[in-house]
Amino acid sequence: MSLETIYDVDNIFAKIIRGEMACVKIEETNDTLAFMDVFPQSRGHCLVVHKNADATNLFDIKTESLGALVNMVQRIAKGVKDGLNPDGIRIAQFNGAPAGQTVFHLHFHIIPVYENRALAPHAGGSPADAALLEETAAKIRAAL
Ligand code: AMP
Repeated sequence: MSLETIYDVDNIFAKIIRGEMACVKIEETNDTLAFMDVFPQSRGHCLVVHKNADATNLFDIKTESLGALVNMVQRIAKGVKDGLNPDGIRIAQFNGAPAGQTVFHLHFHIIPVYENRALAPHAGGSPADAALLEETAAKIRAAL
């Protein structure tokens, strides 16, 4: 898929936003949704999406919609920092399959990094334990 991909209204994140697929939600606003990544690269890996912008990547979203999304990224990253106390936090955003994008609805990754613990591969491996995801989301939520 190139950077010019047409937005697919049935991508996984669009289904999550419409409530057709479950997610472990952290927080939602009128415009944004933050939820846990089910194939986390580390404990607390979460995602932030815009709910009302049908954008596959950073180049599709209207500049005026980006503010709400980035504000939410900062808010949730602070929740991850205060709730999970990692040693570092990586913020990532992939544009196009060659860059590593696998879900074609614009999203930001918030990936806590813990010293001496390697990150799991991107978008791979087995799904996280549902109870652990809920517990981790609760810790982030409590720190917001
Ligand atoms: P990207 O490769 O940047 O498009 O990231 C997509 C991310 O979505 C990956 O980190 C996947 O682990 C994650 N993911 C895939 N399916 C789901 C899902 N149903 N719920 C939550 N995260 C998902």
